[in-house]
Amino acid sequence: MSSSRRGDSDEDHGVLVVISGPSGAGKTSICSAILDQVPHTVWSVSVTTRAPRAGETSGESYTFVTREEFGAKEAAGEFLESAEYVGHRYGTPREPVERALSSGQNVVMEIDVQGGMQVARRMPASVRIFVMPPDRESLRARLEGRKTEAKEQLQRRLAKADGEIATARDSGAYQHFVVNDVLDDTVEEVKTIIQQERERT
Ligand code: 5GP
Repeated sequence: MSSSRRGDSDEDHGVLVVISGPSGAGKTSICSAILDQVPHTVWSVSVTTRAPRAGETSGESYTFVTREEFGAKEAAGEFLESAEYVGHRYGTPREPVERALSSGQNVVMEIDVQGGMQVARRMPASVRIFVMPPDRESLRARLEGRKTEAKEQLQRRLAKADGEIATARDSGAYQHFVVNDVLDDTVEEVKTIIQQERERT
């Protein structure tokens, strides 16, 4: 493929892997397994204004900032993409992603559909995967089992799921839709997609 598709002159690029899907579809478990099992693969640490959950440390899963700090970063053009999700801001810092890709590393990012659509436009050579829950009941059960969300947040996230799935389909931003029924099978499916993408490029 031509280097211009990546918007960069370096041919020895890693693959940018975008994982999206409704809250509770199992994206985080899939991403952890991919990071463990696929060599030369790094995690894109997003910036968010939501409060850390128990066990979350700033700089690992996310960098936690205030709305003011987020606004300053946005104004400085630091984000590859950004979105508002159930009342909180989320954004992907551009520089670490570009640096990792150009040094040949794959980058995995877990972002919402609005973000996925922005990445599809700005980084068209990325591979974008939408993770579907097997059905609505399993989505509810997983969200309830997580016990990290207040009841009102849980309802907002569930209500959002249907819209997200429809938007993902209508947008054309995702090349792959995978149903996360058995985690190990889904991980294998995603690994195959990454492998094929790596070989293709
Ligand atoms: P959570 O609060 O459950 O960690 O994430 C809520 C939603 O925000 C999820 O759909 C997650 O994929 C998405 N998200 C996390 N980081 C980012 C980001 O940097 N950009 C965008 N657009 N969405 C994000």
